[in-house]
Amino acid sequence: MSIYGVKSNLWQLTSTNRLKTACLNKDTQVDVVVIGGGFTGVSCALKLAEKGSKVILLEAEQIGYGGSGRNVGLVNSGLWMPPEKVETIIGQAAGTKLNQFLARGPESVYANIKNYTIDCELTRTGTLHCAHSKSGLINLKERLRQYKARGTELELLSKAETKNKIGTSAFHGALLLQGAGTIQPLAYIHGLAHAALAAGVTIHQDTQVIAIERNNGLWKIRTPTYTIGSDAVVLATNAYHQKIMASSAPVYTPVNYFQTATKPLTKELLKRILPERQGCWDTAMVMSSLRCDKAGRLIIGSVGSLNLPTATIHFNWAQYKLKKLFPFLHDIEFEHAWHGRIAYSNDHLPHIVEFGPNALNIFGYSGRGIGPGTMFGQAAADYILSGDIDSLPIKPEKIYTEKFTKLKGVLYEAGATAFHSTAGRL
Ligand SMILES: Cc1cc2nc3c(=O)[nH]c(=O)nc-3n(C[C@H](O)[C@H](O)[C@H](O)COP(=O)(O)OP(=O)(O)OC[C@H]3O[C@@H](n4cnc5c(N)ncnc54)[C@H](O)[C@@H]3O)c2cc1C
Repeated sequence: MSIYGVKSNLWQLTSTNRLKTACLNKDTQVDVVVIGGGFTGVSCALKLAEKGSKVILLEAEQIGYGGSGRNVGLVNSGLWMPPEKVETIIGQAAGTKLNQFLARGPESVYANIKNYTIDCELTRTGTLHCAHSKSGLINLKERLRQYKARGTELELLSKAETKNKIGTSAFHGALLLQGAGTIQPLAYIHGLAHAALAAGVTIHQDTQVIAIERNNGLWKIRTPTYTIGSDAVVLATNAYHQKIMASSAPVYTPVNYFQTATKPLTKELLKRILPERQGCWDTAMVMSSLRCDKAGRLIIGSVGSLNLPTATIHFNWAQYKLKKLFPFLHDIEFEHAWHGRIAYSNDHLPHIVEFGPNALNIFGYSGRGIGPGTMFGQAAADYILSGDIDSLPIKPEKIYTEKFTKLKGVLYEAGATAFHSTAGRL
């Protein structure tokens, strides 16, 4: 089957609660302007409004246009790298604080879903981190030790137990993270945005911020037509940043990740594949992911862009990989294929840059942004309101730079393409 016949982002098809917002039609003045309608920006705006601030959120495209509306939907705790590494990079005290903070990621997402009655295909049967090789299993045993020591609920499954959960004997074992789950990410962010509107946030979509200036002790947020004055500004544009003059910008290596979804599987097949509906990802250097949506489509993903001529290589690999994992699927049809850009930082940690008084730029979740984005957004709101630096999960920096980010992005893409073309031919 060719990639050219498949439709785009599945999450757009199955999101029914999209937002309609009015255009910005005058210059105005508020307490806080939040830029970017993803998990970070919307969570921040929502919390600020609930605490009584007058807030405007500006989104250049549509709510969820960025990573928040394109991701796999694995709601995991912590970061992608194991907790001891976090403590080594930023020091024991700061690392412990960040690890403890992000351990609450799934809880905070579930609390939002419950409190704002968000219909987003939530499953709470855990996620599976799968060992693709013997060395992957050693990696998982080490993670088990580190997470257990920090009180996280998780269990190492044997090869046979993993087969029962997924329906394939391809993996050497898996870590079952009991507190984790899956969501339909675009439906979650739309639900959060509806809650923000209800709490009093004014949201303008299709409104790109083109400049941020400091004038007479106030921020001036310029759009192509009008200007908003504010005491504080939160930049939450992350990997989808569109140029803003005179402003701090996120700094990251762009890494594309694609997903492709089959047509809904039959009831019989769904009893054999992921019967409890856990979401999975693996330990391979070129990572891949696997999950089902509510309608029973099987969604497989990995590193790579679908916007380049090499898209076919990634798509062919996905078909090959599904057949290898589940030979009984035969030639199942694919319905959807899409990709998104991940903001990787050098140290794989999120960063907060304080680029002026009451001005934060938050980015670099490095592929783990559902819980972290939700929580960093809320923490930014707390900091803007209180000025208490301890309310932030990490210390803000005045400036953040990285070199050769574009080149590193090209190398990630080349590596994934080489891997998928070799694996696809085996
Ligand atoms: C394919 C993929 C798979 C992933 N899988 C997972 C996963 O399974 N689990 C997980 O935890 N994380 C995952 N992530 C990471 C997670 O999705 C992101 O970290 C998270 O969505 C980032 O949210 P955000 O709010 O910071 O940024 P975004 O969601 O990218 O939002 C930024 C917004 O800013 C807007 N914007 C940009 N410039 C301007 C401007 N000048 N003016 C106004 N608006 C502007 C953009 O249009 C965009 O909507 C994945 C990411 C991708 C791309």
